[in-house]
Amino acid sequence: MYLDTHGVMLRQFSFRSSLLPFSSHSQRSFLKSASSTHPRIGATMATISTQNESTQKPVQVAKRLEKFKTTIFTQMSTLAVKHGAINLGQGFPNFDGPDFVKEAAIQAIRDGKNQYARGHGLPQLNSAVAARFREDTGLVVDPEKEVTVTSGCTEAIAATMLGLINPGDEVILFAPFYDSYEATLSMAGAKVKGITLRPPDFSVPLEELKAAVSNKTRAILLNTPHNPTGKMFTREELETIASLCIENDVLVFSDEVYDKLAFEMDHISIASLPGMYERTVTMNSLGKTFSLTGWKIGWAIAPTHLTWGIRQAHSYLTFATSTPMQSAAIAALKAPESYFKELKRDYNAKKEILVKGLKEVGFEVFPSSGTYFVVVDHTPFGLENDVAFCEYLIKEVGVVAIPTSVFYLNPEEGKNLVRFTFCKDEETLRSAVERMKLKLKRIV
Ligand code: GLN
Repeated sequence: MYLDTHGVMLRQFSFRSSLLPFSSHSQRSFLKSASSTHPRIGATMATISTQNESTQKPVQVAKRLEKFKTTIFTQMSTLAVKHGAINLGQGFPNFDGPDFVKEAAIQAIRDGKNQYARGHGLPQLNSAVAARFREDTGLVVDPEKEVTVTSGCTEAIAATMLGLINPGDEVILFAPFYDSYEATLSMAGAKVKGITLRPPDFSVPLEELKAAVSNKTRAILLNTPHNPTGKMFTREELETIASLCIENDVLVFSDEVYDKLAFEMDHISIASLPGMYERTVTMNSLGKTFSLTGWKIGWAIAPTHLTWGIRQAHSYLTFATSTPMQSAAIAALKAPESYFKELKRDYNAKKEILVKGLKEVGFEVFPSSGTYFVVVDHTPFGLENDVAFCEYLIKEVGVVAIPTSVFYLNPEEGKNLVRFTFCKDEETLRSAVERMKLKLKRIV
């Protein structure tokens, strides 16, 4: 693996030469279409000349982002459409969110709740977030001073990194990790250290973690239930992380967007462990719990002294989040317990269909305790790596999965693993399994 920024790009590129040709070429075509649809640029282009490919300027990107490519989710969903494949890649439900929440949004728009919201959230939403957090964790937080509403958890992550991390600060990540963590840490100028969670159970290598944490560590980024593996951090793991953080004065940024999709054990928020609330930012969102991933309503809960930095970054990133959607989020968070129970029951049924199906197809399926993802070992089918396997799966079988190597600092570590999602209706899951049964043959 190369260590400089260009090197990382080469590393990723060589891994995906045939599958993912989405580098400068696709960005060029994006620029072309942008210039023809944007009236001002379009006019300029028409009056001056039409540039041909050979005179077009190379795409530009700041160094802090140059090693990152089009996100794997975008790439895979684009390929799904192109090849008419069943998309078990990007985690978005192919069914709709609940009517009572959609109606609340429509009503809010009709009621004229259409201008800027207060920067850190509609007061009633801040209160609803605090009330839900209290119900889930027992922690009492001040909705006015400790809750910040953001444009999805992705913005909460970005605002947390940009608001609390200084260039050169060391931050520990557990690999495999959700792609936006590394990108936003790079934007903040952080020095990233990875700790790899390994199959079959993806447990935290506690001794390795102890060796990695020091008083140079600024923060540890957690995600439980964990995307892509479905692992849930156990109480013992969280307690060890907590004591290391307290001992070394380290912050924890905890992404808990799949907390309501905890199947095999109870979800634990690390903020609820003794001594941890004052050093933890807990992030969550509406998208997964209410099957409304396109609404982009999220939040960060943190003690006042950490909320200040998050709010400063948020103020200058987006300032405020969509007013009518926030209004509907209030209704969503007040959903009765039966809503959450039913969600879990539905997803459990979907999970069973997919896991059983994948086993029958011949995959080694690793246990997933939470999230709507499951990770498998694809090597019995004889493809060289995760990217080659996903390419074959899309083109020859008609099913999309996510190669996991992109979620590691060293992509080699993920080359045997691919991720499937079961946030699709049961018929779609069954059809995907049927396609795989028909066309995938184990060679070992
Ligand atoms: N969280 C979703 C997933 O892991 C993807 C979100 C995105 O496309 N950036 O599939």
